[in-house]
Amino acid sequence: MIETSEKYFAQARQVIAGGVNSPVRAWQAVGGDPLFVSEARGSKIYDAAGREYIDFVLSWGPMILGHAHPDVIDSICRTARKGTSFGAPTEAETQIAQLIGSAIPSMELIRMTSSGTEATMTAIRLARGYTGRNMIVKFDGCYHGHADSLLVQAGSGVATLGIPGSPGVPDCLAELTVSLPYNDTDTVNSAIGRYGSQVAAIIVEPVAGNMGVVGPEDGFLATLRELTAKHGIVLIFDEVITGFRFAFGGYQDINGIKPDLTCLGKIIGGGLPVGALGGKKEIMAALAPAGDVYQAGTLSGNPLAVNAGLATLQLLQKKAASYAQLDLQAQHLCREIEKLFFAKSIPVCINRFHSMFTIFFQAGPVKNYRDAKKSDTDLFARFFHGMIKEGIWLAPSQFEAIFISFAHTDADIARTLEACAAALNNL
Ligand SMILES: *Cc1c(COP(=O)(O)O)cnc(C)c1O
Repeated sequence: MIETSEKYFAQARQVIAGGVNSPVRAWQAVGGDPLFVSEARGSKIYDAAGREYIDFVLSWGPMILGHAHPDVIDSICRTARKGTSFGAPTEAETQIAQLIGSAIPSMELIRMTSSGTEATMTAIRLARGYTGRNMIVKFDGCYHGHADSLLVQAGSGVATLGIPGSPGVPDCLAELTVSLPYNDTDTVNSAIGRYGSQVAAIIVEPVAGNMGVVGPEDGFLATLRELTAKHGIVLIFDEVITGFRFAFGGYQDINGIKPDLTCLGKIIGGGLPVGALGGKKEIMAALAPAGDVYQAGTLSGNPLAVNAGLATLQLLQKKAASYAQLDLQAQHLCREIEKLFFAKSIPVCINRFHSMFTIFFQAGPVKNYRDAKKSDTDLFARFFHGMIKEGIWLAPSQFEAIFISFAHTDADIARTLEACAAALNNL
């Protein structure tokens, strides 16, 4: 299997920059060449040589129903036969906006995009246009896509590769972004005290998933809400990962703190390229053509993506009650993994939030990016390769989330625990 992927990767590197179309797919941080995928179904993914793995990456979050769900595939095929892009409005776009708005009521008006990056980039521009201010505040280790203003102390692949700030982002733009430690209420208080009147937006992952999973401490999000309201700052929740991950709605619908704008992506596209932003009518109305903050997209609201998303969301709505089951499955998996680590006396800190978690190779606690970086990434790399050998597909980075889907069975979980025991034995 490895040989097939090695051959494919060698070929890819001749024609694709770095051999991959997104850096997180490279195995640079764990060593070796990435496995190429031939297909995926349910909880399983198959490499180019046909070897089966239980998939815990799930395309980095979107595939919450498992791969190739029949209803989603049907919807894509039915739609494709009627044409794949029109550059004119379709009724399905209204339907998905209605469904999202009903699940996440703070999204009073919505705009669909083709990626999460476009959603966050647009949210930032909109906040700047609406407030007439330029500064933005983000948090270390949070990832909000790859737009210039947001690539400061970013998470995900930027964290994996250890890039502090990306070349190509002009200093004059980076200077407008203030990045603060996640979960540190005091620092936010003093930063906003100082710059409040110049800040257009605070953008945050309400549950961080891109430095590994780090949940918000009590009071952190509430403080952001209070400060932004007081200083006329737009509060943006980047729910690209968390939207529809924990419940039929956003994280905001669980904890009750409502942002001014919300960004979505991943799950709402059912595995097709999608993003969305939405929020207060008054702010969203500033977007062109109603307002003059410009944003556009040839393929925005694309029929295939919208119908894959609709099929996914309709299924999730029916399954709303079973989110609790997903939570329990993840809880069991994490408890048992923790026991396996304890039995081997390997320090571990598992941060879990419902059906997403990270196994940090350190004693913890991990409450922010600085804590996350204390992990033993060499040991993680060995564990990663051990798990791959045992047929378990994890993200090739310590600083990413492990996701469970509705397609994961109890047998999958049991097999994963056996694999974990074997991988730890061979560390
Ligand atoms: C994945 C992600 C994005 C970017 O979405 P893309 O579709 O990859 O552009 C933005 N924010 C968060 C929190 C993400 O996890």
